[in-house]
Amino acid sequence: MKTIAGLPTDGRRIARIRQALVGWIYPPLCAACEAPLTAARQIEVPFLCEPCEAALTPIGDHYCRVCGQGFDGTSALPSRCGNCGDRELAIDFAVSAFRGAGAGKGLVHRFKYAKERHLARLFGVLLDEVWRDERLREPGSWWVVPVPLHRKRQRERGFNQSLELARELVRRAPAGIDLTLRPLLRRTREKERQARLDRRERLANLGDVFAPARRHPEVPPGGARLLLVDDVITTGTTVSECAAVLREVMEIDQIAAVSVLRG
Ligand SMILES: [Zn+2]
Ligand SMILES: [Zn+2]
Repeated sequence: MKTIAGLPTDGRRIARIRQALVGWIYPPLCAACEAPLTAARQIEVPFLCEPCEAALTPIGDHYCRVCGQGFDGTSALPSRCGNCGDRELAIDFAVSAFRGAGAGKGLVHRFKYAKERHLARLFGVLLDEVWRDERLREPGSWWVVPVPLHRKRQRERGFNQSLELARELVRRAPAGIDLTLRPLLRRTREKERQARLDRRERLANLGDVFAPARRHPEVPPGGARLLLVDDVITTGTTVSECAAVLREVMEIDQIAAVSVLRG
């Protein structure tokens, strides 16, 4: 299994070969500022230069223990925050890697709306940041569940960004953590793009949007440990809706959610 800190020698060679192939199709330029990247940089953090990486703001160690919202300052550490304190979320907890404002937002836009699928590799590296949460690192297995995209939207885009991220998460699993990709959900209804709505509308915009996949594998004794994956978590409503659907159809030990950005 690969580690975060460094790929084993074989993995490194494969990464180099893969890089040569991908670099042939997509010249290694920073996706934020288009600066050319060295081959070594491209292997470590694909499609992002060092200054642009420095412009991203990690959520860090101070965040809501339920919905993952970052806190400003470190003096007060409530267990729940203003975003989720008055709501029942069906997830146990969420962890995001970076704050959504600024450079990260532009990158996600290029990935999703400019359909730059190869940026999944960059987001996979950025997602490594979520493993700072000790609850995710508890030994054992997780089933990795991408938030599904409606068939129509997926046809337009050519891919589901959350599935691409889930694949990267599994591929880069830290040592000792067993991740298996399980697309357990489907999206049954097309909804307004969340990004166009304000918070109140967003909270009302979901409901009956997700359904369980028609079949799911046998759940291990004690229940499944599920890790939902999305590109951006904003209020946490989407991942909570996904979790609620899964709780209805299978025995659950734990459901967490991870995202690259916190909107
Ligand atoms: Zn750059
Ligand atoms: Zn919260």
